[in-house]
Amino acid sequence: MSRAGDRTAYIIGSGIAGLATAVYLIRDGGLSGERICIFEDLKVAGGSLDASGAAQSGYVMRGGRMFEAHYVCTYDLLSGIPSYDNPDISARDDIFNFTREASWRATARLVDRDARVLDVSSMGFDNGDRLALLRLLLRSEDSLGARRIDDVFPPHFFTTNFWLMWATMFSFQPWHSAAEMRRYLLRFMHLFPTIADLSSIYHTRYNQYHSMVLPIQKWLRERGVKFENETRITDMAFRASSDRYRVATLKVLRKGEESEIALNENDLVIVTNGSMTDASTLGSMTAPAILDRGEPGSAWALWRRLAAGRQGFGRPEAFISDIDKSKWLSFTVTTRLPLLRRLFENLTHNTLGREGLITFKDSSWLMTIHPHYYPAYPGQPEDAVVWWAYGLNPDSEGDYVKTKMADCTGEAFLREAFSHLHFEENMDALIAHSHAIPCMMPYITSQFMPRVKGDRPEVAPEGSENLAFVGQYAEAPDDTVFTVEYSVRTAWMAVKSLLGSSAAIPPVYKGWRDPLVLLRAVKETLR
Ligand code: FAD
Repeated sequence: MSRAGDRTAYIIGSGIAGLATAVYLIRDGGLSGERICIFEDLKVAGGSLDASGAAQSGYVMRGGRMFEAHYVCTYDLLSGIPSYDNPDISARDDIFNFTREASWRATARLVDRDARVLDVSSMGFDNGDRLALLRLLLRSEDSLGARRIDDVFPPHFFTTNFWLMWATMFSFQPWHSAAEMRRYLLRFMHLFPTIADLSSIYHTRYNQYHSMVLPIQKWLRERGVKFENETRITDMAFRASSDRYRVATLKVLRKGEESEIALNENDLVIVTNGSMTDASTLGSMTAPAILDRGEPGSAWALWRRLAAGRQGFGRPEAFISDIDKSKWLSFTVTTRLPLLRRLFENLTHNTLGREGLITFKDSSWLMTIHPHYYPAYPGQPEDAVVWWAYGLNPDSEGDYVKTKMADCTGEAFLREAFSHLHFEENMDALIAHSHAIPCMMPYITSQFMPRVKGDRPEVAPEGSENLAFVGQYAEAPDDTVFTVEYSVRTAWMAVKSLLGSSAAIPPVYKGWRDPLVLLRAVKETLR
């Protein structure tokens, strides 16, 4: 018989949910790092929080992340992790310091087809919109079921400044889940007064791979945690007794070779079920990123296998059955021409990187760009400007290049973006000094697809003795998916439930219970 001290924890998935699970197992659960193994199908750890490349060939990241003051679990996690470049400062304090040093003050949140900055001091609601907003907030989540956002708001709502800023900030589409929209409105109501200037947004010093993933990974490695990359868990076998069950075996596929791991009775399995960046593909300056319409990859395949014919493991199909509704495209651009900095700063009257997001309101792609504060990557040369862009309508033709965004090469994307910016005069020089790398993500907004209770499994499914689910597709009541915070919270919940640790997980922030927050938000909706 094995003792609890011999317990091994198998973590499937090395995204932030998996990494956070390992930290909490050590920190709160007292597990030795040497008894933790993290399996990852990809070549590197970090999941969606990736960032790679070089100034010469072009940097690439699937996304850039915005945080805010109440990422309580994330900040707790990072409070014990030394930052990327300074071991005396925690990764959390590095975020706080950097947010103070380089706070956002968006001055060009929405621009029109003439690159004129629009006045966004009013949210643009009419009384019908206000009533719909109130009704949605007063409803229970369960009563909304699988309703879509456009089932609960009138057409006018989708023409407002509020919707344009909200949708492009958080990536909502009218067909997404009204229940998730409700959670967002409640959770981020305190951001209403700063939605136009984005001054409440927190951010990491570098991209999140360098500022979060690498520091956590280093901390875990120093404690003996094993990382098994390019290793896929394809299935599990269970042992059941009365109404309880436990994972008994893991099926492993490593570089084409199949094997099995037999678990001892105290061993634990924590799975990130599903991934928003699964099956993402990259293009180049001369090739588009091809949409992978094939079978989804390891994260979805394992979840499908576990859920098939079983109660309590959720319903992956709710999230992945229509990739044309969940896909979009990002571009990471590296421009090695200092002129670009000047052009951006002339447009926004702001220091590069402090303007946050710029959305081209009239762009048929509904394109948003985000110039990064220098440097976005450690060691980035001074002449390199890194900027990131995405469009919520990837199947629309551009206004200038007459190509669907989804079919655009890096060069075609740049022509469209620089035309919207009205940098035509310098177009050829800017393109000649730029690398734009497209990234197609078929499941990027899958976590927003309409779903009902039970489509996401509980973090600790009923009857499970040693299995927990973490990440964006496990249920964390009241919290908002498409956030790092959500994944970290589920990790903490998983460790607490599996090990019965005494840690008190901070509740999800409920600003609307604060009369001042509520008052300010109401005032904004009346403007
Ligand atoms: P993932 O990062 O998807 O990691 C799961 C990992 O598990 C994957 O690497 C996968 O390969 C692996 N895996 C799964 N199953 C298996 C298996 N069977 N075998 C082996 N490996 C497996 N969040 C914010 O807070 N603010 C933002 O502004 C923001 N913007 C974003 C912009 C973009 C473009 C993207 C992509 C994300 C954004 N997010 C943002 C969301 C945030 O990045 C994600 O919620 C978070 O990183 C998800 O982490 P995760 O660990 O739950 O899942």
